[in-house]
Amino acid sequence: MRWVDQSPRLPLQPVAAVAGRDAQLDAVLAAASDTARDADGITVAIERAALDAALAHLGQHADEQGGLLLGEVFAEDDDPAATRVILVTQAVPSRDFDSTGMSLRMEAGVWSDARARLGARELVVGWYHSHPDLGAFFSGIDRRTQRAFFPHAYSVGWVVDPLRGEAAVFVGAESGDPARVVYCDGAVPPAGGAAAGGVDGCGAEGAGA
Ligand SMILES: [Zn+2]
Repeated sequence: MRWVDQSPRLPLQPVAAVAGRDAQLDAVLAAASDTARDADGITVAIERAALDAALAHLGQHADEQGGLLLGEVFAEDDDPAATRVILVTQAVPSRDFDSTGMSLRMEAGVWSDARARLGARELVVGWYHSHPDLGAFFSGIDRRTQRAFFPHAYSVGWVVDPLRGEAAVFVGAESGDPARVVYCDGAVPPAGGAAAGGVDGCGAEGAGA
């Protein structure tokens, strides 16, 4: 077997390893039924550092901006297709951003920035971008970009409208809705999401959009 035939090993973690990573995430997962926890969809948990970094970046610009998301992936049987929880730990801003669905232009340095910041258990889990005053939704272009560049079960697309204070999260090649979105560490998501029924102050949303 030539080395090129071997896919790079992803630093996936067993689902049980998510326990204790964040008290609020633990509470949300404990509140979910065992069935939901084991198989019914994907939980996306966004750490405060990632939220703060993304909002600080996007809030400074009137035009569309974006970057990469780093995080940890918890999956059954070491199988990325059986991803259960994605913990988004870092947002890496790009100074240059243009997404057309056919191409995704980011400043070249954002990929090396991302690699340099990857911890041992982290990988690039997706991307984020802004829709200034357009609302937080995934356009047809966004769906094509997700399918072309972030097609894994653990791939996260996070869109924020910093002017209207809205955010939405999508997962997987088909930009599906995660089963639940958890903002960790007392992070306050943009929007009305802050008032969503949280657990111990954690803004947990059903992420219906
Ligand atoms: Zn968009």
